[in-house]
Amino acid sequence: MSRLDAIERALCDGLRRRAERMYDEIADAVAIPTGGAFRPGLDEFRGLLCDRLTKLGASVSMHLGDERPAWLALPHERDATAQGDAYVPPVAIAARLRPGTPRVLIAGHIDTVHDPNGAFRTLTRESDRIARGPGAVDMKGGIILAMNALEALDEAGVGLGFSVLLNSDEETGSFHSARAIEEAGRAHDIGIALEPAGEGGALVVERMGSGHFRIDCTGRTAHVGRDFTKGVSAVVALAKAILETSAASDPAAGRIVNVGPLEGGLVSNAVPASASAWGNVRFADPAAMNELARRFAALNTPDGALPGVRVLTAFARPAKPLTPQVERFALAVRDVAESLGQTLPFGKTGGVCDGNILQSVGLPTLDTLGIRGGNLHRTDEFIEIPSIVERAQLLAVVLKRIAEGRITLRS
Ligand SMILES: [Zn+2]
Repeated sequence: MSRLDAIERALCDGLRRRAERMYDEIADAVAIPTGGAFRPGLDEFRGLLCDRLTKLGASVSMHLGDERPAWLALPHERDATAQGDAYVPPVAIAARLRPGTPRVLIAGHIDTVHDPNGAFRTLTRESDRIARGPGAVDMKGGIILAMNALEALDEAGVGLGFSVLLNSDEETGSFHSARAIEEAGRAHDIGIALEPAGEGGALVVERMGSGHFRIDCTGRTAHVGRDFTKGVSAVVALAKAILETSAASDPAAGRIVNVGPLEGGLVSNAVPASASAWGNVRFADPAAMNELARRFAALNTPDGALPGVRVLTAFARPAKPLTPQVERFALAVRDVAESLGQTLPFGKTGGVCDGNILQSVGLPTLDTLGIRGGNLHRTDEFIEIPSIVERAQLLAVVLKRIAEGRITLRS
């Protein structure tokens, strides 16, 4: 275990003195609703963060988001999409790179899963250890502690070259922001994402990939009483396709297939002419992804066939395996944690995040350097209050050692 040097001890002291302020800043951030693609809240929060980074000498650029493929819209989302009022948010990148020093990309998503008009709106301190609020752990807490770590490094005179990337659609699959994330990933040397710590405070070093699919079946409608035999049921075709799709699921082999929601037919006394199913897949590695893609492709029928089956896929977040570079990075972060008197177990998950995208373009990335807490995506989501300072210290010392070249991913 390495020892903290004088600058690192001063950094940690400074962050400890910021404890109350960081808590208040998390409360302020939580009070800005950024779920449900709520544009006023997203624009406000993004603007505040960019102003703050500008004061550190970063220059901000806005990258136009891409449209989300329309076929991904679930039945209950389709009305909003059809009205064309869906907000395509930009990706903000605040960059302060230094020639000759490693380029660190710090990625944060400012959106949450919470209803902007729901009852869960503010950060509430439940005890000395726990506070609950929408998006507090996922991931406004992480974003706020990163802001404070960067400011503390600046005050300590550490010349870190960094970019902070802020996207607004991680919780809905990063379809608007994926291209900007990939481009940024290629232009940096080390990736950090501010997702919350894993189970038991773990550093997640391995993630499955995730993809979406839709199966569309076509048939021929007919009156059930008069012409049943002339009909071709799209619903029956879909049922068969679903069984074949589900048979591709083999969690032990690193392949998970979940089907739903479904729709098919309009009335019960006519043979249904169309039916569709949406679903989500998870895969442990490229081989598992390719196997799923092969099975989906095999369901497609020739043009004009009745019933007809067509499968659309978007395997948007590749698997994030533990590479030798990521392992070296993780061990260096654990060393810092131990110097701070913290323990840092390693973990893996089937959950995905923008770290999957960053690493898929070759950027070694650790993506759970945010805050500790739990109950993500629920209305009892919480942060562990002592982790605000602990995790800010961990991040600050890790960033300092990257700036100094002490944490380097080159062998
Ligand atoms: Zn998140």
